[in-house]
Amino acid sequence: MILLFVGLQGSGKGTQAKIISKKLNLCHISTGNLLREISGKLKQEIDSYINNGKLVPDELIIKILKQRIKKEDCKNGIILDGFPRTLEQARDLDKILKIGKVIEISISDEEAIKRLKGRWNCKKCGIAYNLVTSPKPKQDKKCDNCGSALYQRADDINEEAIKKRLAIYHEGTEPILEKYNSIQVNALRATLLR
Ligand code: AMP
Repeated sequence: MILLFVGLQGSGKGTQAKIISKKLNLCHISTGNLLREISGKLKQEIDSYINNGKLVPDELIIKILKQRIKKEDCKNGIILDGFPRTLEQARDLDKILKIGKVIEISISDEEAIKRLKGRWNCKKCGIAYNLVTSPKPKQDKKCDNCGSALYQRADDINEEAIKKRLAIYHEGTEPILEKYNSIQVNALRATLLR
């Protein structure tokens, strides 16, 4: 089973994808996380795209994704979070995987901006907290799970990068939803607790 989770940054698609992938025994692949984990000589180039709110080039992200889906943990199925982001990527994806369902986690720009500005993450556990909405960490800017200091992503601090990401989503990513006849979920009510 291959599911695509599509939504504005801050919609909570990553959080929902993580919970549902565990329930369904699917591999959760966030292309944003894959890119942030890259080290070595490509890192600087990739960070400059991410931190400025731009998409990394299609050839690069597709190459990285193709390598990732070959791994054993993808055999039972995958939830793709953050890919495809353009119709070109969707066309490439169709050549390598058979897409089951596409789920749009829908949220307004205003709510997304509010959430992105309040988002703090744990590098170690990958847990996302939100100081403006929820879940808030129990201790000030520390992870409830491991106690590590939380950090804000560079592209969440940069106002211009936030605006650019929202614009790219509306222009480039939304057309995918029509192509796949997606299911739409209201992000404000999508509270899967366990
Ligand atoms: P995300 O963690 O999904 O918010 O992604 C963070 C950033 O990674 C994006 O703003 C892009 O710069 C880059 N990125 C993630 N997925 C893709 C993709 N499918 N295509 C191009 N760039 C991507």
